[in-house]
Amino acid sequence: PLHENVDLNVLAEQTIRFLRQEALHRNIHIDTELAPDLPRVTTDGNQLQQVILNILDNALDAVGQDGQIWVSTASDECGEVLLTIRDDGPGMSSETLNHIFEPFYTTKSVGEGTGLGLSICFSIIEKLGGRIEVRSAPGEGSVFTIRLPRPQA
Ligand code: ADP
Ligand code: MG
Repeated sequence: PLHENVDLNVLAEQTIRFLRQEALHRNIHIDTELAPDLPRVTTDGNQLQQVILNILDNALDAVGQDGQIWVSTASDECGEVLLTIRDDGPGMSSETLNHIFEPFYTTKSVGEGTGLGLSICFSIIEKLGGRIEVRSAPGEGSVFTIRLPRPQA
């Protein structure tokens, strides 16, 4: 993969812009809470954008009309940079959670989902040396967190 200095805040905002029309159309609000002075990450910006787009796309599918999505960034003391995407959709059962990263696993109808999005996200993030975490429960929405290593100073 290409290695460049990527500002996750800029990448997040660019990606949200792609989906603004669809969000507006369904009156879905996407709020951002982007950390000031976020350290840059050395990574492949295009591939990372693909991941953010896939997760946001799922969030848009999950929330109904008037739904709410939150996108935030942060860095921690362990030298990782985090991007979190949360939605107030229906959440997932533990059964669904166990399978979401498997290729072709989908709960959507034929023509609406290929079940490939999250399996692609998983392999991209793995290749970029990061991790992807999910928290979700029925009725409580879903939270996807991408953790990327910060380059050592
Ligand atoms: P697809 O979107 O084509 O179904 P994905 O790999 O992107 O495939 O997602 C797999 C499944 O994970 C979805 O079908 C859905 O059941 C579940 N899922 C993913 N994101 C969310 C979310 N934000 N809220 C609820 N379920 C989700
Ligand atoms: Mg998807």
